[in-house]
Amino acid sequence: MRAKGSNLWASALRDAAPTPYWTDRLDRPVAREPLSGGESTDLVIIGGGYSGLWTALLAKERDPHRDVVLVEAGLCGDAASGRNGGFCSASLTHGLANGAERFGAEVARLERLGRRNLHEIEQTLDRYDIACDWERTGELSVAVEDYQVADLHTAAEDALDFGHDVRLLGRDEVQAEVHSPTYLAGLWDTERVAMVDPARLAWGLRAAAIRLGVRVYEHTPAVKIVRDGSGIAVFTPFGVVRARHGALATNAYPLLRRLRRYLVPVYDYALMTGPLTAAQRASLGWDNRQGLGDMANQFHYYRITPDNRVLFGGYDAIYHFGNRIHSDLERRSATFEKLAEHFFATFPQLKGEVTFSHAWGGVIDTCTRFCPFFGTALDGRLAYAAGYTGLGVGATRFGGQVMLDLLAGQETERTRLRFVRSKPLPFPPEPLRSAGIAITRWSLARADAQQGRRNLWLRALDRAGLGFDS
Ligand SMILES: Cc1cc2nc3c(=O)[nH]c(=O)nc-3n(C[C@H](O)[C@H](O)[C@H](O)COP(=O)(O)OP(=O)(O)OC[C@H]3O[C@@H](n4cnc5c(N)ncnc54)[C@H](O)[C@@H]3O)c2cc1C
Repeated sequence: MRAKGSNLWASALRDAAPTPYWTDRLDRPVAREPLSGGESTDLVIIGGGYSGLWTALLAKERDPHRDVVLVEAGLCGDAASGRNGGFCSASLTHGLANGAERFGAEVARLERLGRRNLHEIEQTLDRYDIACDWERTGELSVAVEDYQVADLHTAAEDALDFGHDVRLLGRDEVQAEVHSPTYLAGLWDTERVAMVDPARLAWGLRAAAIRLGVRVYEHTPAVKIVRDGSGIAVFTPFGVVRARHGALATNAYPLLRRLRRYLVPVYDYALMTGPLTAAQRASLGWDNRQGLGDMANQFHYYRITPDNRVLFGGYDAIYHFGNRIHSDLERRSATFEKLAEHFFATFPQLKGEVTFSHAWGGVIDTCTRFCPFFGTALDGRLAYAAGYTGLGVGATRFGGQVMLDLLAGQETERTRLRFVRSKPLPFPPEPLRSAGIAITRWSLARADAQQGRRNLWLRALDRAGLGFDS
């Protein structure tokens, strides 16, 4: 007999491992030794997610003789970079609409640079033989409420104005593409998004950087960074790394006090099903294997893996008072059950048929403009890039380029951008910070339930250029 309602979600989750599917592999790389004693180098990179790994690789590509050291508090690719949805987007600005709203005429250049960035990521994977299940399937945005159909039409017009290859799909067409009764319309951006295995991408970048001579120290947290002689010194429990320059790539765990007002760590969660049978797989259609996302404020993102599992994530975006980050917060049964319920509402043909093998969460570095910001500290010796807000798989490579430009004191097409030179509006301090986020989340949920109507609070935030997203 089939379970009903909440029992069904709970039973589908019963055997889910509370760990990211992507890193739960037997062939994950062996950890590098921690730092032992002092090091001296040209460039020290703090953080071994995509941001730090791209910066290391690009630094070596720009100048193979440059000596580069990377220190990672845990294991490279174990944080957001190894636990995301694997949507690698050309967008640097968390979508075209956000970019156009915030950067005006500059958005055309940002779109071009973002597209080039995606292309160069693809070339890098070829160059270093990085096997990470890269599939240039594009992304299908779906309307699941009447009011979202109009939003999709507007998005299609905007995308066409920028020369994007998009296809607007009516109800029958979108349901023929992917078999969900919830879809009312779809917009398929056919080539500006690739699907990737996120952990294998991080591990591949790490291996390539090591091959080029980058010295990677894992389980080596930086605890303090100071000016030192003509460069900087990075203190770790196992020794000090002295360097001419540094790049801070620590995502939502900023070491610099000045970054804390711009960033809030937001927990995003995902489920992974077990591999579908041939019949279950056929019941979904989805032959073009696009990444999928709906148009709500509290949106879901989902995709299919090469071995025909479905990853289903998003919706809740949870902030904890005082910017709290802790591994206990990576598990949240209320969110997992909600996601399971929404998964079966999206694909009712799988109800009672499919269970989840993994359920996990991870931290996103949200800022009020939803896209990265950049800068330098310690008299220009330390560069930073942060604030990717849930769309950093591709954009972190661009961020690495910006950090290297800034450290070289080079004026480039990138560093001339207002996108690079400006900062987001800061979040207020606690307790206003958590109160403001709670009101915003409540308002966004209400807007989703009320045909997208934004209340006074959201309209005031829109006018001020402030927001909260994942
Ligand atoms: C569940 C989830 C789903 C997501 N889905 C997508 C998606 O589909 N597409 C997309 O584009 N983006 C997505 N994102 C966001 C994306 O994963 C991030 O933007 C991206 O991985 C950021 O890379 P990063 O290197 O800046 O951060 P991280 O991967 O978090 O790396 C930062 C590293 O710095 C290390 N570190 C921190 N402090 C120190 C210290 N003091 N000393 C040394 N090391 C330190 C950490 O251990 C960590 O390894 C998602 C994120 C999550 C959590």
